Amino acid sequence: MTDNVHAHEIHKFGSMAERWWDKQGEFKTLHAVNPLRLQFIQQFTEISNKRGVDVGCGGGILTEALAQHGVDALGIDLSGDLIDVAELHALEMGVSTVNYQKISVEKLAEEQPESFDFVTCMEMLEHVPDAGSIISACAKLVKPDGMVFFSTLNRKPKAFLLAIVAAEYVLQMLPKGTHEFKTFIKPHELSKTARSVGLELQSMIGIEYNPITQRFSLGKDVDVNYIAAFKKQA
Ligand code: SAH
Repeated sequence: MTDNVHAHEIHKFGSMAERWWDKQGEFKTLHAVNPLRLQFIQQFTEISNKRGVDVGCGGGILTEALAQHGVDALGIDLSGDLIDVAELHALEMGVSTVNYQKISVEKLAEEQPESFDFVTCMEMLEHVPDAGSIISACAKLVKPDGMVFFSTLNRKPKAFLLAIVAAEYVLQMLPKGTHEFKTFIKPHELSKTARSVGLELQSMIGIEYNPITQRFSLGKDVDVNYIAAFKKQA
């Protein structure tokens, strides 16, 4: 078991577990961005018939979509309540190529190094005490030449205004208290840490929100929420 976890974060997300799959509920933004992240991932790797692990999978929004696209998918999270929700949803949907496990990424990396064709870790780095340890474990899990994908929030004033003030308080797209500004990660910090553990940046792109159309799209603006693709050096 790792110490690299904030118990209050696991409790916060776990307490909303039963509403994880409600597309109009607290996690509607994760549902809204999911097709975009899937599309981004598929630009860098053929995912069908590959083995993929989704780190900090929550109730399995991305994990299940990966499985539906032919991935032999494993989702891991430290919230037992969320693992239960994810398993139940896959069962209800008849998705059989997905498995879930309550285990830390550091432990899984010790047990199964270089075992996955690709790794995804979305909207999770900003919720842990030591993001570097998560990035390092993701690098260890992936096979040489495999891909690792991260998405997180940028520590910029614009992200404070949009991801916290607007999203949590004004538009109420996210529950209040979802994010804490000081935990946000600048793109150059992510790429530098990733490089130090053998992950080479391939691409980084913004996940932009248009409040008029109320739609998300991928674009140039990485000032708020962004997604990045890394390749593990052989
Ligand atoms: N990746 C999912 C969920 C993001 S919410 C998605 O984008 O759809 C953040 C998730 O990180 C929650 O499920 C929470 O339980 C999980 N989490 C937080 N700290 C963690 C840790 N140290 N190890 C594993 N999961 C963690």
